[in-house]
Amino acid sequence: MGATRLHVLDCGAMSCDLTWLLLKAGTTIRSRGDRDLPAPWTPCPTHAVLVETPDGLLLWDTSCPRDWEARWKPTGLQEFFPYDRVEEEQYLDRRLGQLGVAPEDLRYVVLSHLHFDHAGNVRQFAGTGARLVCNDKEKEFAFGFDGPFTGAHLKADYEGLDFATVSGDTEILPGVTLVEAPGHTPGTMAMRVDLPETGTMIFTSDAVYLGESFGPPAVPAAIVADLGAWYASVEKIRDLAARTDATVVFGHDAGQLRSLRRSPEAYYS
Ligand SMILES: [Zn+2]
Repeated sequence: MGATRLHVLDCGAMSCDLTWLLLKAGTTIRSRGDRDLPAPWTPCPTHAVLVETPDGLLLWDTSCPRDWEARWKPTGLQEFFPYDRVEEEQYLDRRLGQLGVAPEDLRYVVLSHLHFDHAGNVRQFAGTGARLVCNDKEKEFAFGFDGPFTGAHLKADYEGLDFATVSGDTEILPGVTLVEAPGHTPGTMAMRVDLPETGTMIFTSDAVYLGESFGPPAVPAAIVADLGAWYASVEKIRDLAARTDATVVFGHDAGQLRSLRRSPEAYYS
């Protein structure tokens, strides 16, 4: 028995220079003829996923916080990734509420990694009975550096919270497998969900930002902790998707997100 239902929670979008997401000659990396074009700013959507299984509910990622402008200020990220394309109804807590789901209804809250736009609301689930989960190498990195932030890891998001960790590829609930896909960060994970009608869906999170990043050939991004590991993870996801005939959902792909069944109007079963 696998997962039974899956809801894609569209949490609006940040805005950013596309060069953060795609280092591609002719698209973001400009030729001399295009050198004076304006910076290619684009929506950078953020989503979470709610999975229903016979053994409980799992939330995948927690998007960005309402207080992004103040919280991100020490890092400067608010100038590069303003969370300024979001309606009230799109904030994560509202998205869960639209499905009648309260934090205490969740069995697991899994973070693909602990970056500011994925861990931004995880504190809402502390002390609710939901188990907070991330990869062991992500936890080691995110809690291990000195100071309040490094890159896009911001301790204000997660410091003091108790994370259970997984290592290797782990079936955490029936039909829900967390897939190690490091490179973007030391412990980035993707999520595989097996559904009765839809079949397999793979949520890449930031292991693959865009359909264009997936290729083939894979096209890297500006924020990659380990480029060799990143390429290997993309190929791992590609192999898994081919073997399972999966629908692959990318981490920040605006065009693709618009094409998906989105909550609360529609879901996957
Ligand atoms: Zn990230």
